[in-house]
Amino acid sequence: MSDCVFCKIVAGQLPSKKVFETDRLLAFEDINPKAPTHILLVPKKHVVNLADGSADPALLGELVAASAEVARQRGVTDYRLVTNTGAEAGQLVFHLHFHLLAGRRMGWPPG
Ligand code: AMP
Ligand code: ZN
Repeated sequence: MSDCVFCKIVAGQLPSKKVFETDRLLAFEDINPKAPTHILLVPKKHVVNLADGSADPALLGELVAASAEVARQRGVTDYRLVTNTGAEAGQLVFHLHFHLLAGRRMGWPPG
């Protein structure tokens, strides 16, 4: 999608601090980190969110497995993996992404 910020990052049209990549996904540092570790994992193809139904289960599994790999590489054992689906849930960028958050104590339930 031409006006999607994460599609632009995937295409190299916007800069990012890349931390992990496969042929189907990219992980990079969040530009406005909410925790000492805050990494975003996105599919390279444009998917709006989990509700859009266009991410196949294998791709979703790759994203979750990649988050665990990134956490291992960072030496992080305690972390939160979250994806906001829809505006009411806090989604601001409408390209599917998982937030990997770590390095501080996090409350439950989220605000
Ligand atoms: P969400 O509210 O779940 O849609 O999260 C969107 C996230 O994308 C926020 O944590 C933003 O800080 C992050 N973000 C927005 N633009 C960029 C960018 N150009 N590079 C890295 N992270 C970004
Ligand atoms: Zn996109």
